[in-house]
Amino acid sequence: MFETLGNRLQDILERLKRESKLTEAQVKAAMREIRMALLEADVNFTVARDFVARVSEKAVGAEVLGSLTAGQQVVKVVHDELIETLGGKATQPTLKNEGNIIFMVGLQGAGKTTSTGKLAKYYKDKGRRVLLIAADTQRPAARDQLRVLGAQVGVPVLEVANNETPAQTAERLREHQRGDFRDLVIVDTAGRLQIDETLMDALADLKTALQPTETLLVVDAMTGQEALNVARTFDERVSLSGLIITKMDGDARGGAALSARFVTGKPIYFAGTSEKLTGLEPFYPDRVAGRILG
Ligand code: GDP
Repeated sequence: MFETLGNRLQDILERLKRESKLTEAQVKAAMREIRMALLEADVNFTVARDFVARVSEKAVGAEVLGSLTAGQQVVKVVHDELIETLGGKATQPTLKNEGNIIFMVGLQGAGKTTSTGKLAKYYKDKGRRVLLIAADTQRPAARDQLRVLGAQVGVPVLEVANNETPAQTAERLREHQRGDFRDLVIVDTAGRLQIDETLMDALADLKTALQPTETLLVVDAMTGQEALNVARTFDERVSLSGLIITKMDGDARGGAALSARFVTGKPIYFAGTSEKLTGLEPFYPDRVAGRILG
């Protein structure tokens, strides 16, 4: 991911860096090129426009243009603004000592069940006592898949039955907690191929019954900007606290990953980097920016 965009941006910045003195016209031309490169990488239009506007404002302003290191300074501004676009400082879900419930939501195929297993491993390795809830009754194989993942990670899995009400699920969770207390519960919820009212209602009801402390949307980086429209709807209905972007190892152009923070207003907590259980990494905006700009 980001390969074409990275090459284009590095090319533009290399040329700027070589200039000892820059004119406003040169900066403006470079900004136009950057904007084009972002749009071609499927970055959201507003995100690309604002990015370039912020860089221009800082780069054309005051001392930069006249200085001997103008090119380098502009490059630094681009770098800093890219980190800002990706979310600034790395953020993680807020976990308390106990009583943590992470609600995983997303469209079918986004990587929700896989990410649920990965998160279980991530937090178990950090010493958490994790319980998984297989509440994806929509895709029959999802519960089997989560049972297998739970066994691989070594955490119990509570399976929701087809006709169980959210209140019954909440009661079964309380019962489980009385017998085998877990400080972190991760819930794999139902997904559909598209946004659908019945699904949203069901998610909202389950959310009310379980009162999760975090609601994470799993977004497939390969699906581009459409993924972010979907995110808005999820946020309206079940109020998201953060995002997990999967398939960052794929050959997507990267625009969705780059735009996600600004379009949704939610932090990206984790990135999925392979199909394996170990393929989940905290999302570090500075490292991602570093990878893009070389
Ligand atoms: P769900 O319907 O949202 O629960 O999706 P799944 O968890 O079943 O994942 C759908 C497909 O995406 C599976 O083949 C996963 O192995 C794959 N997948 C999930 N996350 C990643 C990732 O970060 N990278 C890659 N390469 N594949 C992933």
